Amino acid sequence: MTYIKNALVGLVVGGAVLSSINTMAANGYVGIAMPTKSSARWITDGDSMVTLFKDAGYKVDLQYAEDEIPNQLAQIENMIVKGVDVLVIAAIDGTTLSNALENADAAGIKVISYDRLIKNSPYVSYYATFDNFKVGVLQAKSLVNGLQQRGDGPYNIELFGGSPDDNNAYFFYNGAMSVLQPMIDAGDIKVISGQMGMDKVGTLRWDGATAQARMDNLLSAHYTEKRIDGVLSPYDGISIGILSSLKGVGYGSGNMTMPIVTGQDAEIPSIKSILADEQYSTIFKDTRELANVTVSMVQAVLNDTKPEINDTTTYDNGYKVVPSYLLEPVTVDKSNWQEVLLGSGYYKRSQIE
Ligand code: BGC
Repeated sequence: MTYIKNALVGLVVGGAVLSSINTMAANGYVGIAMPTKSSARWITDGDSMVTLFKDAGYKVDLQYAEDEIPNQLAQIENMIVKGVDVLVIAAIDGTTLSNALENADAAGIKVISYDRLIKNSPYVSYYATFDNFKVGVLQAKSLVNGLQQRGDGPYNIELFGGSPDDNNAYFFYNGAMSVLQPMIDAGDIKVISGQMGMDKVGTLRWDGATAQARMDNLLSAHYTEKRIDGVLSPYDGISIGILSSLKGVGYGSGNMTMPIVTGQDAEIPSIKSILADEQYSTIFKDTRELANVTVSMVQAVLNDTKPEINDTTTYDNGYKVVPSYLLEPVTVDKSNWQEVLLGSGYYKRSQIE
């Protein structure tokens, strides 16, 4: 009975008939290292994986490191000692895990890089993520659409990047700049502060308070005479910091229209903010699908079969191009939030309204 249930779940989860037939042999112990509980998306990621792995007959150890690198290293070492068969890791800092992964390899443990690429290690079997460059493209396109709906340019904007120790942050930024740079070159968009490039606009640990402080400085240094029309924000937690700063100097009331502010992760406070006409848009990444892809990768490494991958060129981690499966991100704004977020069952209406 359990076997049949596992086989069925295997079919649904992985779509891989062969590995599901071998489910009994593939069952094992999975260690999942997540970065932080301070952002709801990682909680959903962890919960979805625990459910899927348990349903497929795996034992799971899920740990969150509250964005502290030493915590994450200790948690991974601990999982190795406990004897997990596979590690699924969403790194806090993708460059700090080389020794830990060497120890994992010595213990015969396979590693799946989850959402964020683990750099500088040959011991990463597969990478499950979203099309991160496209996330940036969608953010910038949404920013530009929002600006154009307000009227003719040139538009004054500022740029925010994600954490410089997260490989994704560069993909988001580069994707966004592939849309914005030609418009900047043409004079249709102006970055009034002149602050461009991840070294200038990055936000360590994706921290909203850090972003808020930088936005405060930008506003007082460059926007006492001018209006700001838009802000490229890579993540909802950063958007909330930016919006607080903007509200603090009067945007969003009277004749000071709130600038167009983007985001990512479709977190509930940001969906509420979109409905309140504050944040303009976010990017939805269905973390349930990411969990599905990851489970099939784990099944494959344990069964010595190949999981489905759809990218073998993009993610070079310094040692090798890590075979990847990239999922599709989706822009969410006031016009489609119900269809995308309620329609997919990601949220219930009562969570938002
Ligand atoms: C993830 C984003 C998330 C950010 C902050 C990135 O690595 O891909 O979805 O917004 O981390 O948690």
